Amino acid sequence: MHEAAIAQGVLDLAIRTAMQNGGGRIQRIKLRLGEFRGVVREALDFSFEAIKRGTLADQAELEVETVKLRVSCSGCGECECSPRDYNFLCPTCGDPLQIIAGREMQLEYVDLE
Ligand SMILES: [Zn+2]
Repeated sequence: MHEAAIAQGVLDLAIRTAMQNGGGRIQRIKLRLGEFRGVVREALDFSFEAIKRGTLADQAELEVETVKLRVSCSGCGECECSPRDYNFLCPTCGDPLQIIAGREMQLEYVDLE
């Protein structure tokens, strides 16, 4: 279940950030998450709620912004197409598509008390 691993990574990073900034309690964590990561929000929230207990992020709220999947085509440039069924070939020319957004997993900010 990769949501548990992601929740742990986010929590570790948020706590490290809090420690580097005086060690205050964490109020809110904002995460940017690419659509292509295929993360199930409910599973992520559930994992986060479970592991945050007893840490600096005990009361923290996890906010997630989903980044839409965007692709570009090696044949015809940036492409508005949305690859279907994860078939990464351009519907216009058949060239391979490259993902230019939608794979991110970034901690945008951590709000401390
Ligand atoms: Zn193309």
